[in-house]
Amino acid sequence: MNDIGLLRRLCEFSALSGFEDQLITFLVGEMTRYADRVEVDGLGNVIAWLNASPADINLPDGGAQTAMLIAHMDEIGFVVRKVQDDGLLRLWRVGGIPEKVMAGQLVAVCPEGRDRLPGVIGGRSHHVIGDEEKYVVDKVVDVFVDVGLRNAAEVCAAGITVGTPVTWWPFYHVSSGRRVMSKALDNRLALYILLETLRAMSARRPATNLAFVATVHEEWSAWGSITGANSVRPDLAVVLDVAIASDMPGMDVLTEIKLDAGPVISTYMFHPRGPHMGTVPNPKLRRRLLRTAEEAGIACQLGTFYGGMTDSSTMQYSQQGVAVADVGIPARYTHYPVEVASLTDVEATARLVERFLTDLPAQLDLSRGS
Ligand SMILES: [Zn+2]
Repeated sequence: MNDIGLLRRLCEFSALSGFEDQLITFLVGEMTRYADRVEVDGLGNVIAWLNASPADINLPDGGAQTAMLIAHMDEIGFVVRKVQDDGLLRLWRVGGIPEKVMAGQLVAVCPEGRDRLPGVIGGRSHHVIGDEEKYVVDKVVDVFVDVGLRNAAEVCAAGITVGTPVTWWPFYHVSSGRRVMSKALDNRLALYILLETLRAMSARRPATNLAFVATVHEEWSAWGSITGANSVRPDLAVVLDVAIASDMPGMDVLTEIKLDAGPVISTYMFHPRGPHMGTVPNPKLRRRLLRTAEEAGIACQLGTFYGGMTDSSTMQYSQQGVAVADVGIPARYTHYPVEVASLTDVEATARLVERFLTDLPAQLDLSRGS
């Protein structure tokens, strides 16, 4: 990893699902340095091409396949649903905000075209909270944000309106143990790997056509990857996202996924409440990723995930069906205001993905049934 400062820059963006414009502009600038062509589709996905671009992608039989590497750029948060006369803001949540960690958090309120403002999710003072209230979670419909302004007129003058996006306030720290602590490591870790892999592969010129896609809308619906896949028309896709680490109290009975134990190759993912349910990866693609890791001496982990999904879950239904696989970076406290992951895992995941793309033949058999 050449430019770890880039990870910090990515983490510090506020890019709520559907409100990713500043990050889109930044990514276009970064990707243009290395890609043959960069485009933004109608929804906002940023697509960087190495080798073929859509204009010349209708190749005859025997032509190179197109592989797609995906990382979503957006993050969870809120939108302002109401500005009160007293200047306090009411919220709806966007994506999987855990309500139990909201009260007392610092948030970034992001008025259009202006610098973001700090706000605090307030609540009844501790001194007046009775025993019966002490262990009750404040729901999102009940909480409010205080941006330190005295009335609705001052809030309006600051550019804050109904619909203004709100994210966790940026925080970034790397420990001496090479653990990174930040908001939105889901999915800026993967976005960082996407950019680093594009940079590395631009000097290598692989046998396949490669599309590096930073998607929008994942945390809200995961539909961004559908338009991304419709634009790229890939033969195969590898989706980079975080994987839920279980090496902590209360989680250790769930899975074997740990920090510092390498990238997670998913075998099964199911979201009982999601609109698109989950992903069982293409078996040949999954096996090839595992073999690549073994040959390169990269330790990796097998993963299962019950209760969530990624861009792979939606995009696999585009075209006639796309062969997909998920590679995860282990992370703790996902969707909390500060998530924790390992830079050692980030490096190992980047090496795995780069080696996988480098070794891809022009044609890879991903057929089912044999
Ligand atoms: Zn994610």
